[in-house]
Amino acid sequence: MIHPRLKSANRLLAGLLGPLLGCTAFAQPLSPLNFPDRVRYDGQMLVQVELRSVRDLMLVNQISDDCWSHSAGPAIAGGMGTLDYRMDAAGLRTLREAGMTCRVLDPNLQRTVDEEAIRLQGAGDGRFGPRGWYDDFKSPQQVSDFANQLIAMRPDLASRKNFGLSLQNRDLYFLRLSGEPAPPGTSKPIVLLNSVQHAREWITVMTTMYIAEQLISGYGVDSRATQLLDDYEVLIVPIVNADGYAYTWTNERFWRKNRRQNAGGTFGVDLNRNWSFAWGSDNGSSGNGNSETFRGTAPFSEPESAAMRTLTLDNPGIVLHLDVHSHGQLLLYPWGYTNQPAPGIGALSKLAVGMRQAILDSGGVPYLPGQCYQTLYPVSGGSLDWYYGDRGILSWTPELRGPGFAPPPSTILPTAKEIYAAVLWLAENFCEADFDQSGFMDTDDFDAFVYAFEEGLPKTDFNHSGFVDTDDFDAFVAAFIEGC
Ligand SMILES: [Zn+2]
Repeated sequence: MIHPRLKSANRLLAGLLGPLLGCTAFAQPLSPLNFPDRVRYDGQMLVQVELRSVRDLMLVNQISDDCWSHSAGPAIAGGMGTLDYRMDAAGLRTLREAGMTCRVLDPNLQRTVDEEAIRLQGAGDGRFGPRGWYDDFKSPQQVSDFANQLIAMRPDLASRKNFGLSLQNRDLYFLRLSGEPAPPGTSKPIVLLNSVQHAREWITVMTTMYIAEQLISGYGVDSRATQLLDDYEVLIVPIVNADGYAYTWTNERFWRKNRRQNAGGTFGVDLNRNWSFAWGSDNGSSGNGNSETFRGTAPFSEPESAAMRTLTLDNPGIVLHLDVHSHGQLLLYPWGYTNQPAPGIGALSKLAVGMRQAILDSGGVPYLPGQCYQTLYPVSGGSLDWYYGDRGILSWTPELRGPGFAPPPSTILPTAKEIYAAVLWLAENFCEADFDQSGFMDTDDFDAFVYAFEEGLPKTDFNHSGFVDTDDFDAFVAAFIEGC
């Protein structure tokens, strides 16, 4: 039960929240224009190429190492589909001379970056338009300030904590949101959301911050937000790749990796190839420091991915996880490292299809659900596989809307809203006691639990204590009897 006085305070706060967020001035106008040493993209364009064969793919990979699309488009006439690459005019000419069909999606990436920088400069005066904080993309400092504002509005619901330092000593932080506490002796299941493992995917930060705001401002006002925070704790890491994200604001808009100085004078490890599960394969990552998918010198060699691992192990109640990326309008599930189906793929797929429908029902655009390996491309050492394969946590990678990594700012709010709808649906439709996630409870769930329990699998830590013991068995039986 929520105390009636708290309820009315909630309403008051919710009434204040909108206007407050609409007129708060931020300290510094931060725009990429303030940094004259920015990397330029003169002569660079974004090109969609139609792949007819593996030979085409090899040719395009010789021309560009920077694949932007997170989805091979539908295969045309027996081909392999389409992919978007950053390249110059000479590269485009080579592909066309080889008979490949290419479509220029953005003829002038420098102009796009310049237009965005000028726009952000204008937005730095602290005044917001009709979409409030979501009018335009936000710098690391602006994201941090907003997180503090949200917490200040409801310190009873929300808190913030650092969980590590980036390579360049930036604080890594998460928000913890929770309504009613769990009954004594029990703990609530946890939903973990993180964004921007890849620095240039700016829309993902806006989206997880929107979810934080909706849950905080909606608690006690909106029944779904209230229920979610009463049933679960929600952990949100808005910026995993803290150095990379800062770097995209100051130096190089389309930087993807972290800022590790590798041997040989190259920079950056792809954090989403640095997780220990199936780490090290050349199919889905690279051992070359120059590559956009460089996996690092060892699993969890990078402080940012290692800190995420520690955060996860410190919170054994995590049952659902979304690692938010852009772009491609996809809802990916394990595995990324192999085309073999993951055990329990039926449940992963069913919940992805449910999220897709929830997005559509909320007025959003279609998201394609699918196994990461086939739907996106091979990813080895990714967090998706680690959460599911190593920890037994149901995990998805939504790839949000584009186009590109600098979409028009009008894209931000609709994207954030549809992903919030997906998160609500997921939390409402997940039931821990339905252990095999079949959608209904029967003796198979009991058998599946007993089997996993005997194997000592982490997902049988049913009371979320951090270890598996007979209390977990008792907790499962109690939940099983209670039903979903
Ligand atoms: Zn990404």
